[in-house]
Amino acid sequence: MVDEQPAVPDLDQAVGRGLLRYCPVCDGFEAIGRHVAVMGYGATGLTEALFLRTYTSHVTLLTFRQPMQLTSVQQRQLREAGIRVIEDPVREVAIADDRIQALTMRDGAPHVFDVLYSALGTSPRSELARQLGATQDEKSCIVVDQHQRTCVEDVYAAGDVVQGLDQISVAIGQAAIAALLSTIGSNEAPDGGCNQSTGTPIEE
Ligand SMILES: Cc1cc2nc3c(=O)[nH]c(=O)nc-3n(C[C@H](O)[C@H](O)[C@H](O)COP(=O)(O)OP(=O)(O)OC[C@H]3O[C@@H](n4cnc5c(N)ncnc54)[C@H](O)[C@@H]3O)c2cc1C
Repeated sequence: MVDEQPAVPDLDQAVGRGLLRYCPVCDGFEAIGRHVAVMGYGATGLTEALFLRTYTSHVTLLTFRQPMQLTSVQQRQLREAGIRVIEDPVREVAIADDRIQALTMRDGAPHVFDVLYSALGTSPRSELARQLGATQDEKSCIVVDQHQRTCVEDVYAAGDVVQGLDQISVAIGQAAIAALLSTIGSNEAPDGGCNQSTGTPIEE
């Protein structure tokens, strides 16, 4: 999975210092009570901002050099959750005094945060599976059944590249299932997987 990167100077250093983060499910608890900015827009930004609201009441949604693109329903959800939205796009992100500073297009004064979460989107590296004919969803994640089988015989997939929660524990569990079944053979597993003619998953 490749994260869309925000234009932050010394990006690797910012990640290393915990100022720039990508995975609130992984480390959101470290943001308890802190001033958090989420860089994103539309449904992705909304979901991440609402999730982080679990940990802190100081959440601000920012967008980077493009419109926020929130519907009126999404705006109401954010209002009700007490999430601040800065509609004016950010033109520059800087790090000063171990904090994140966001400068918007029109406003000269920096908005300052303890942590910046990037929610600009991800793209799975699923080209190989696609070339083999495996079905993918609308986000290009590989569709598998409960035994990690793709629609292509003897091709299994596990981890972030398949639909589901992107976590190490999930990837390891899925890999264990795929490794076992690819050794003993799919025929040993109960029927399932995808309809070979339509590519749609079969409910079990
Ligand atoms: C900053 C950050 C922090 C995170 N923190 C946590 C955490 O605290 N806890 C947690 O559970 N999860 C965390 N995650 C998520 C976790 O890293 C992933 O869920 C996990 O690594 C998924 O494992 P994977 O094997 O599916 O993919 P990856 O670990 O991404 O491994 C895929 C590998 O395949 C390689 N690859 C891709 N395409 C090709 C190709 N065509 N040919 C050859 N090689 C290829 C890639 O280079 C990569 O090495 C974090 C993620 C990020 C980005």
